[in-house]
Amino acid sequence: MTPTVAFDAPGKHHGFLRLPHSRNDSAWGHVMLPICVVNGGAGPTALLVAGNHGDEYEGMIALHDLALSLDPGLVAGRVIIVPQLNTPAVRAGTRVSPIDGVNMNRAFPGNARGTATAKIADYLTRHLLPMADLVLDIHSGGKTLDFLPFAASHVLPDPAHDAACAAAALTFAAPYTVKMLEIDDTGMFDGVVERLGKVLVTTELGGAGMARAETVAIAKRGVRNLLIHGGLLEGRPEVSPTTMLDMPDGDCFTFAESAGMFEPLVDLGATVSAGQPVARIWPLDATGLAPTHLTAGRTGLFVARHAPGLVQAGDCAAVVAVPL
Ligand code: CA
Repeated sequence: MTPTVAFDAPGKHHGFLRLPHSRNDSAWGHVMLPICVVNGGAGPTALLVAGNHGDEYEGMIALHDLALSLDPGLVAGRVIIVPQLNTPAVRAGTRVSPIDGVNMNRAFPGNARGTATAKIADYLTRHLLPMADLVLDIHSGGKTLDFLPFAASHVLPDPAHDAACAAAALTFAAPYTVKMLEIDDTGMFDGVVERLGKVLVTTELGGAGMARAETVAIAKRGVRNLLIHGGLLEGRPEVSPTTMLDMPDGDCFTFAESAGMFEPLVDLGATVSAGQPVARIWPLDATGLAPTHLTAGRTGLFVARHAPGLVQAGDCAAVVAVPL
């Protein structure tokens, strides 16, 4: 992987991370990942990433907007913007890469001798992350999930690191803020960032394979707030009310056990109680067949649901979080 931008040059630089990708339609071709470096001199480095999954749009839009508009004269430090981390997936409108079928967020720390997705992950781990003090990884639900917009930090072993990440997530000022207990972060970007001791904020800002005006505005405000919080921009973070949520265990998640048409019985933001039916799945085979009921595993707020109209056995159908 070869960057076409210099990370230490002052000013704003648009360029690419160029990954060799020899293929039938381009013998000496490359995958071109857009990157923007905004270097305002002495100060911390923020690494802002979106498009880890290719069908999650809020973060990609907010970071393209930031790359276009950010004035290096107003930045104390350096902002590295990678708006489409998995560009092949972004171009295909898919979650995972069409080149190797690999999920970027299961490919970390990556492999310099691996497939395209592994090589991108490796470049982030070995070259971009060591430069960063503050890291933002913007996600949404993609085509198959839809979330109430939240920013999140993880429960971390070191109390000071845990507090720094939680404070940064709160600064993002999404309508909901979550403290997540990650049981297995094998292959995930966030785990690699956190084990390096960096401050990390992640998000889920909507989904269903599209962006909304409201969720894009949340992403743009959150990015700006985080840069102010990190000391890279002057000013005060824009304050907006947030509800703290906890997702304490596996009871938060309900999975479909049959295929069919997804009938939601409640919408995102509804308060539900344990055992309450939240959706039904209608079989497609004939009339006169009863739907399967899906119930909430615990009492709380209905924060995420399966997105398209058809559901398969094994799909995550509903997520309930507990307001704190
Ligand atoms: Ca995602």
